Order: sequence, then C-alpha cells, then structure tokens
Amino acid sequence: MAKARIIDGKAIAGELRARVAEEVRALKSRQGLTPGLAVLLMGNHPASLAYVGSKRTHTLETGMNSFEVDLPGTTSEKDLLAEIARLNVDPAVHGILIQLPLPPQIRTAAVIDALDPAKDVDGFHPWNVGRLWTGGEALVPCTPQGCLILIERELERSGETVAGKRAVVIGRSGIVGKPVAALLLRESCTVTIAHSRTADLAGECRRADILVAAVGRPEFVRGDWIKPGAIVIDVGINRVPVEGAAAEAGASKSRIVGDVAFEEALEIAGALTPVPGGVGPMTIACLLRNTLLAACRQAGVARKD
Ligand code: NDP
Repeated sequence: MAKARIIDGKAIAGELRARVAEEVRALKSRQGLTPGLAVLLMGNHPASLAYVGSKRTHTLETGMNSFEVDLPGTTSEKDLLAEIARLNVDPAVHGILIQLPLPPQIRTAAVIDALDPAKDVDGFHPWNVGRLWTGGEALVPCTPQGCLILIERELERSGETVAGKRAVVIGRSGIVGKPVAALLLRESCTVTIAHSRTADLAGECRRADILVAAVGRPEFVRGDWIKPGAIVIDVGINRVPVEGAAAEAGASKSRIVGDVAFEEALEIAGALTPVPGGVGPMTIACLLRNTLLAACRQAGVARKD
C-alpha cells in the first residue's frame, strides 16, 4: 500500500493568512477599519513568551494592530479583571486573547467569563461554547477550527465531505477534544469522543475514517490502531529527549513529537498531519481569522464565509 499523504498544514495556514491579509486590506480601504488583537500575558513563562511573539509577528504581517498587555506574574485576579474590563470597552481592540496557563492565584474560569464574548477570539467563553453546540453565530476555538479545515481540504481532493463519515476524537478537553467533536458533528459526521476511561480504545480508533488525536502523550496512537486509508489529525505537541548520536553531536537535546507514532501511521493512513508543521500553524491562522471575523461583526460589516 502507498504511504500516507502528508498534509501540509504550514502551506494551508499560509494560504489562510494570505486570505485574511487580503480582507484586512479591503476593510481598511473601504471601511477605514483595522482589526486589533490584544494579547494578555501574565508572567514570563518561556513557552508563553514564544507563542506571544509569534502571534504578534503574524498579526502585524496580516496588517492588523497588535496590542500586548504584559502583567507581572504576581498580579491579583482583581487587577487582571480590571484590565480585561478595559480591553472589553476599547474600540480599537476587536479580539482579546488571554495567554494560558495563568498563575495559581488566578481562577481561569472567572477570567474567561469576564471576557466580552464578541471579543473572545479563543472561543472559550461559555456563550461561545454554548453557541458552538446549539448553533448560531459563535467564535470557534482556533485549534479545532484548524483541524476541521485540514480534514475538509483533504476530503475535497477526492470530492468528498465529512458528512456521514465516522470520526473518533481522542481527548475531551474544552480546548481541543470537545470543540473538534462539536465541529465534526455540526458537519454531520458520526462522532465518538474517546478519553482515558474508554474501553478498547484501539478498537474504537480502528473504526474511524477520521481520527483526531489530542491526548498529550508522545506517539500514543500506534499504526495498527488506524483504519487503512483514514485521515489522521495529530494535535499533540510533546517535547521528548533526543537520545543517541544526535544528542552527543551537540544538537538540541529535545525534539517535538505528536500523539501519533508518525512512521507507523505513514504506512497505513490515507493522509496524516506531521508534527510540527500540521495543526500547529493552523492555530495561529485561525486566531487571525477569528479576529477579522470579530472586527467585522462588531462593525456590522458583512462577510462571505
Ligand atoms: P488535556 O490534557 O487537557 O486533555 C488530554 C485528553 O487526553 C483528556 O481528555 C484525557 O482523558 C485524554 N487522555 C489522556 N490519557 C489518555 C489515555 N491513556 N487514553 C485515552 N485518552 C487519554 O490536553 P489538551 O486537549 O489541552 O491538549 C492535547 C494535546 O494537544 C497536547 O499535546 C497539547 O500540547 C496539544 N495542543 C496543541 C495545540 C496546537 O496548536 N497544535 C493547541 C492545544 C493543544 P481524560 O479526560 O479522561 O483525562
């Protein structure tokens, strides 16, 4: 059997960002409106700093305004909520992203609840979560949106859609698993959500035309769990130590792997996202898309999709 097609998330994300940039140009010239994204960061967690930097670069590249609010890691919840209240009413800010995780003195749910749902570009506010499941206009979480776009693009190649396909999503977090399942269900997929208490997980996976892994365990999904020809979306980002010659040669001591055993999956899946370069780049592209969408909705500007 031929090897799986590798889904080029980097290229698809690049196309999506280019489309967003084009719309931003049109918005500026026709409506005099520049979408603005505010990213609120508490403390100086190295991974968070890197994510925020990358978001800033991409936001500016698409022609949007980027606002950064850096608060000390010791900031109280009351002061953080006051900052959010300020951003909620700032007319130049159309999207607000709270960089997670937050320090222990902060109740994450209270902070998310305080966001104006119309500016909640992460799609985590209960109002947006409810709308995602019940229908209607919502801001949809970025990583799940990215997964759906990759799945739909892959199926388009053979003139198919997700409707009627059997999907298994491993993971039930509010950030990835549940919203991915909601999106697939909205598109008329038959969806199973698997988790750490699922009996016969491998058997469940083997029935999936579409398998989404959002577990957070390196190379957890083995090749023989995959239905031949299935589309496999690997959301996992796991840092593992590099062993052997590569480590000794002074190269980086760790590398990133996904939740799927890539080489094994390559032999059996129909199409597969790599890690890195699969779902990851789609997350930021969808964040920019959400900011554009939020700006248009707030300004009452109609869009096509
Ligand atoms: P969580 O830890 O919140 O959720 C993990 C899920 O996996 C849980 O539902 C858990 O089940 C399930 N799980 C854990 N162990 C098993 C097991 N042995 N068998 C079956 N299910 C299991 O993680 P997230 O959803 O936040 O993230 C998942 C992965 O995606 C991580 O690697 C993360 O880094 C990555 N990620 C990538 C993003 C991107 O942009 N590419 C964005 C966000 C996340 P249970 O609920 O029963 O505990």
